[in-house]
Amino acid sequence: MLKTRVFTLYPDLFPGPFGTGIYKKALQKKIWSLDVVNIRDSAKDKNKTVDDTPFGGGSGMLIKPDVLAASMDSKILDDHEHTIYLSPKGIKFDQSYAKKMIEKKIINIVCGHFEGIDNRVLENKKIEEVCIGDYVTSGGEVAAYIFIDVIVRLLPGVLGNHNSIKEESFENHLLEYPQYTKPQKWDGKEVPKVLLSGNHAEIKSWRLSQAEDITRRRRPDMWRKYKKND
Ligand code: SAH
Repeated sequence: MLKTRVFTLYPDLFPGPFGTGIYKKALQKKIWSLDVVNIRDSAKDKNKTVDDTPFGGGSGMLIKPDVLAASMDSKILDDHEHTIYLSPKGIKFDQSYAKKMIEKKIINIVCGHFEGIDNRVLENKKIEEVCIGDYVTSGGEVAAYIFIDVIVRLLPGVLGNHNSIKEESFENHLLEYPQYTKPQKWDGKEVPKVLLSGNHAEIKSWRLSQAEDITRRRRPDMWRKYKKND
């Protein structure tokens, strides 16, 4: 059972996508759990203030360190739990990071908002900053959707066919080959003949060469890693 805990100012955004499909099933089968913590509940003043202006000037607001830390302390009982802050300046979140996450028992996920959070929380607590891509979202919640989604579908028992994971994009530094379903002829186009041949060795080698071709053209960075592993 992988437990995830999300610290957010917008608890209404959860379960969001996780209220449906394979995620709902994973929750019901107790393969995974989602605990949503409202950071605002830990604000002490009567207005429930969670943010303030940055020292040194600048636009926007920051989540206050005392409120965020109190929220985390109310739930995180063990220093060894893996805790991340979703942040554009974090280390890159990719498939190999996700695979390491499925070994964890508990993952705490802090969602920033406004201009982010006071840096001292990051310094004083064992938090890894993780970035979902080179763009800026307005809050950590959508980043958390991606982070959790990618990890949960890797948990054994979540996808109907666990083997399908092994042939997906980013496995062995290759993008996936093109796929086709019925009808065999559609909009003037036929499905590639080799896929109808029933010859498994030929199909396998066609798929590999397609995957190599796409990766070489679209992702030179991945292509270099793939060639290195050859
Ligand atoms: N001022 C910040 C951006 C704040 S965006 C900066 O320039 O780095 C508001 C919040 O959205 C962040 O606190 C973070 O939790 C989340 N966020 C935005 N882009 C993200 C990304 N690429 N990866 C992960 N989280 C992101």
